[in-house]
Amino acid sequence: MTPREACRLFRHRWFVVSGDWTPKSTGHPLTQRCDRCDTEKREVIGVHTGQREGSPRYIYPPEYHYSRDEVPTGDELRLMWIREQVSQLRKDRKRA
Ligand SMILES: [Zn+2]
Repeated sequence: MTPREACRLFRHRWFVVSGDWTPKSTGHPLTQRCDRCDTEKREVIGVHTGQREGSPRYIYPPEYHYSRDEVPTGDELRLMWIREQVSQLRKDRKRA
C-alpha cells in the first residue's frame, strides 16, 4: 500500500511544521505536513479570534492525484490493507 493509498484510507497524519509562506491577511499562518505522503496544509488563523480565515489550502506532492478512472474505492483500499496484513502475518509466522 502506497502512502497516498494509506492516506486515502486512514486520512493524513498531520504534524505542525514551520511554513515558508506569508498570509495575505494579518492572520497567523499554520502549516501542517503529512508525515506519510508529504501533503502540506496551509491555514490562516485570526490572531484575535482564533478562527480559521477561509478554507485550508492543500499542496499535494506530484503524482498524488489519480486520474478519474483509477480512483480506488474504500472497499478496494481496505482489501489492499487486509491483504498486506495477511501476508505480513505469514512472513512473521515463517520467521518464528
Ligand atoms: Zn498523507
